[in-house]
Amino acid sequence: MIYIIKKMSDNITESLLIASNIHKEVRKKLNNNLKPNIKLIDIVKIIEETTINLSKQYNTINKGIGFPVSLSLNNCAAHYHPSNDDQTLFKYNDVLKIDFGIEINGWICDSAYTVIFNEKHRKLLLAVYEAVETGIQNIGIDVRINEWSGIISEILDSYEIKPIINLGGHNILHEKLHGGMFLPAIKGIVASDVIFKEGVYAVEIFGSTGDDKVFTFGDNNLYMLNNNKYQDESESNMELYNIINTNFKTIPFTSRYIDNKYNNTLDNLCKLQIVKEYPPLFINNGNIAQYEHTVQISDKNKIIFSKGDDY
Ligand code: MN
Ligand code: MN
Repeated sequence: MIYIIKKMSDNITESLLIASNIHKEVRKKLNNNLKPNIKLIDIVKIIEETTINLSKQYNTINKGIGFPVSLSLNNCAAHYHPSNDDQTLFKYNDVLKIDFGIEINGWICDSAYTVIFNEKHRKLLLAVYEAVETGIQNIGIDVRINEWSGIISEILDSYEIKPIINLGGHNILHEKLHGGMFLPAIKGIVASDVIFKEGVYAVEIFGSTGDDKVFTFGDNNLYMLNNNKYQDESESNMELYNIINTNFKTIPFTSRYIDNKYNNTLDNLCKLQIVKEYPPLFINNGNIAQYEHTVQISDKNKIIFSKGDDY
């Protein structure tokens, strides 16, 4: 008989160090395979297979997949996740945001970068990269978030790149990707007395060559449990609810992770707002770049988990 013993730890830093090392390995493997005209769904497969393989020995919710990878092209900012039959390609002139998370012991390392083949987009990438670097340098306990945001928008301004105003960073809690705090890339959104406290944060910035506000558009393919104390008389609703609660708890998932026979029931749970949908986010004009790192701040130190040789 074979016993698989999964290592458990309630140590936040330790869990995120493991998760971030896996994140770095996954993107290294992916970057070696990126070439013009690769299908987005093939990128998903490389990320998911490598994640599952490297997370096997650890305690995870959904095999280490912190959330389904977002592969958002050009004027799409976030939340585009291809289905199995999606034929979309990453083409030579495209700007692709790759945003994925690794989850260990309920802690998600959330990190994103932007990939191009055509160097004409380089300035956009440099602007957002420097903005995130500056955000990481300036984050710390007792720092006012509003002022922190102001410094970021100045960096983007200096490159003539616009911050996306209704998307940005966030805090990360146990088994919760978005902990409820919003870290914008522009001043005037967060009240002036709100400060950073000890915790885990995703420093995440979107810069645009065109419009500065995203809107939802197109078919949804990302879901997350909204209410984890649900009771219903409908047997099919309860069956799917229990599957979701068991397999994903409160982390995001996609329809591909669930048997097709539950498609209608999944729609029902969305209508009942038991499950929340996260459709793709777009701007009308321009290209968007994104970078993101997961950072922990305490009174002792600052750890930038996802930082690697690549970004
Ligand atoms: Mn992310
Ligand atoms: Mn994030």
